[in-house]
Amino acid sequence: MNLPESVPDSWFSADYAEARAKFRTAAERAGAALSAHRNPNARQPDGGDLTTDVARIGPAPGEAAGVLIVSSGTHGVEGFCGSGCQVGMLETGAADLLPPDCALVLVHAINPYGFAWLRRVTEHNIDLNRNNLDHSAGHPANEKYAGIHAWLTPRDWRGPGREEADAAIAAYINEHGMFAFQEAVSGGQYDFPDGLFYGGRALSWSARTWLTVVGAHCRGARRVAHLDFHTGLGDYGACEIISVEGADGRGADRARQWYGDEVKSPERNDSLSAAVTGSMENGFDGIAGEAEVTSVALEYGTQSLPEVLEALRADNWLHLYGDPESDEGKAIKRQIRDAFYGDEPEWKRTIWATADQVVRQAAAGLAASPYG
Ligand SMILES: [Zn+2]
Repeated sequence: MNLPESVPDSWFSADYAEARAKFRTAAERAGAALSAHRNPNARQPDGGDLTTDVARIGPAPGEAAGVLIVSSGTHGVEGFCGSGCQVGMLETGAADLLPPDCALVLVHAINPYGFAWLRRVTEHNIDLNRNNLDHSAGHPANEKYAGIHAWLTPRDWRGPGREEADAAIAAYINEHGMFAFQEAVSGGQYDFPDGLFYGGRALSWSARTWLTVVGAHCRGARRVAHLDFHTGLGDYGACEIISVEGADGRGADRARQWYGDEVKSPERNDSLSAAVTGSMENGFDGIAGEAEVTSVALEYGTQSLPEVLEALRADNWLHLYGDPESDEGKAIKRQIRDAFYGDEPEWKRTIWATADQVVRQAAAGLAASPYG
């Protein structure tokens, strides 16, 4: 397809409100069935509603043999990337790539609060990709995180307290290495509600909404392909496809068949991502008995890992102790936006090229093997 010069730049947005409007307009133009889930806990900075919007094209729920479900904004501020690609899918007719008995379901801004407020977390400081687990079954301990929590969350952002914390982090990285630090920070923790990568103690509104959407849109399907858009790991504009084993233990093998040998999995220790608990993929557990689910995360690079982790640390401090309206607060908000959004035409062209390719591969995967 020959796309005009302004594409894909024009699919991407400057903020959540614009992204939501672009998504809904493109969905209507594409003839999608649209629904919206309103977050009752929070509002946009200008007071508007925060919604997760769902567009469906193809056979009705319960009547599709296969579903390609694409989610954006799991990590709020990372939603700029996934939203732009979802608009691109609508504008380029991605649904037409699917077999006729399959539906395309686009879930826009599953964590709308984080998208609107430029945070990776939900309105309750929860990392949605650590929150999808059975909270009645207890929570995994993360002793490594416990050991560094105080350094990640200094009370003062300037002065001796911050300098001591920075020195302790530098010594830790020096002794254990950067990946060990990343694992300790980002694996997920359930004991420090004011900390980083906090998985929560109950399902968040976003996690419950995700379960509702999966139940409503994937029920009855025999095959489900899931793409979850993320940013913040890897080289600028590069895409790492990350798979987990899934409920049937074959998810990563299937993902390699569909997307190629470059698919990574934290369980095999070859991914840029640390192994995490409570990821979005668990949202499919309820339908795993009847459907074969192949779920991957698309992880797009923006800045270096130390820059990204430092932006998260700064943002956490800002919302605990700082004033988002101050000059310092605004600078931190710019810092975290830049850490998760390569807001340049070339970056957008690059990530769209991969997204388009992955959608085609998912469509072929849904079509290829016999159902059931
Ligand atoms: Zn992410």
